[in-house]
Amino acid sequence: MLSTMQDAPLSIAQILRHGASVHGDAEVVTWTENGPRRTSYAEVGRRCAQLAHALRGLGVDGDQRVATFMWNNSEHLEAYLGIPAMGAVLHTLNIRLFPEQLIHVANHAEDHVIIVDPSLIPLLAPQLPSLTTVKHIIVTGSSAAGLEAPAGVEVHTYEGLIAEQPTEFDWPELDERSAAAMCYTSGTTGDPKGVVYSHRSIYLHSMQVCMSDGPNLKQGDRALAVVPQFHAMSWGLPYAAFMIGASLIMPDRFLQPAPLAAIIASEKPTFAAAVPTIWQGLHLYLEQNPQDISSMREVLIGGSAVPPALMHAFDNDHNVSVLHAWGMTETSPLGSVARPPLGITGDEMWKYRYSQGRFPASVEARLIDDDGKTVAHDGVSVGELEVRGPWITASYYGVEAADKFNDGWLKTGDVGSITADGFLSLSDRSKDIIKSGGEWISSVDLENAVMGHPDVTEAAVIGIPDEKWDERPLVAVVLRADSATTMAELQEFLSDKIAKWQLPENWAVVQEVPKTSVGKFDKKRLRADYHDGGLD
Ligand code: ADP
Repeated sequence: MLSTMQDAPLSIAQILRHGASVHGDAEVVTWTENGPRRTSYAEVGRRCAQLAHALRGLGVDGDQRVATFMWNNSEHLEAYLGIPAMGAVLHTLNIRLFPEQLIHVANHAEDHVIIVDPSLIPLLAPQLPSLTTVKHIIVTGSSAAGLEAPAGVEVHTYEGLIAEQPTEFDWPELDERSAAAMCYTSGTTGDPKGVVYSHRSIYLHSMQVCMSDGPNLKQGDRALAVVPQFHAMSWGLPYAAFMIGASLIMPDRFLQPAPLAAIIASEKPTFAAAVPTIWQGLHLYLEQNPQDISSMREVLIGGSAVPPALMHAFDNDHNVSVLHAWGMTETSPLGSVARPPLGITGDEMWKYRYSQGRFPASVEARLIDDDGKTVAHDGVSVGELEVRGPWITASYYGVEAADKFNDGWLKTGDVGSITADGFLSLSDRSKDIIKSGGEWISSVDLENAVMGHPDVTEAAVIGIPDEKWDERPLVAVVLRADSATTMAELQEFLSDKIAKWQLPENWAVVQEVPKTSVGKFDKKRLRADYHDGGLD
């Protein structure tokens, strides 16, 4: 028997209409050299309509891909909403990809238009002759100075293009399963692969961002979206904020600790999101330049494991609660969020908060061992995490990747355990796990232990070949500038924290751990650098 319910399609147009009217007073703040630039959701709504008319004028009349090569700002928000709402497909290009990767993804997605920030022209322009499907470049602002386009490509300015356009648009009714946006994985462990989100998946995911067992974004929140809009859709914040009426604070290109501290002082965010390295940098900066950042109720941290020491530092020094979460580009990205069960306090509560967290009702998770068998959720048994749900990808765009899926489940490549009450603890990416003498060493556990030392600001652990044990851990470590701590002292510090046979004998003191295009420790590069062993 079918239900009697209406079959209203879930759509970005609906989020846009709702946010621009009901929450028309909510703010978008974009940081500039001269401080904040402000606009309202009502104004964003009008400009989305103007953008859609302008794009129609450029021949975008179907599911053409309109790419962005931009920082987080109000124009990028307009692209997020207006492009999918008109039926085209938003493609967020990662501005930090290597040139050959950028060319690959833009050609693979068959981008028709690219909207680019003027400050990023020097990065994009050299690649333009290799972009085979691009017909239009739109430079945000009112000047396209400095951009010479190859033959066959027209250059426009964003403001010039939208200026005379109507401020209303008759948003088409679309199939909720049609493509709304696409994002390529950042290629941390291989070539970038395209994930295509639907109107339905984004809508449902946005609701989860607002749920109390998820990030719990609320009406009236001021959300500082540090996580780039090209990194897994800024973790869903722009759509969720528009849906619920939370204001958005966009740092544009000012992502270093000093301007971030200035943004927090000026704009008093109540919520924020970014990868651990951003918060580690801010924490160090605030030690030298104390400032109250406690307007932030919670900061959502994910993308790689959050060192417990960082959580405690935010808790103790700043009265800011860190919310640990796990996700992937392939999972929209929200997977699990570490909210302890109600009533749990003390050390027990911290154990829950250190974990990668619990999955929401919409996402199912299981662990699979080397023999392909499901392992128990007992908090001890370990396997590869597989997930499925309405905002988890079922394939990659235009490539065969059967090895990434298992009977309708996404194989995440992450390894860990799940407790009986559903909390995930990841020990590693399967590619990063260190196999020493037939036993596994978790690089994440080792990193967390080393980063617990007060003089250590960054630590990344990789496996390096070893004649006797096959592999042994190497720790690339960054020490505070004034630190005289020796590696022997660090080893001593670890001695009561991890098993003796896991104690690393290979250390490399570095100025900075290399980072990926989305700010994670770049273990591929570390392995290339230290394959033959570390320094001491
Ligand atoms: P990329 O795969 O290119 O790094 P993603 O941002 O999609 O881009 O990365 C997803 C991966 O990041 C996950 O599969 C996992 O390995 C890692 N990750 C994300 N969140 C966490 C977390 N909280 N703890 C540990 N690893 C995490």
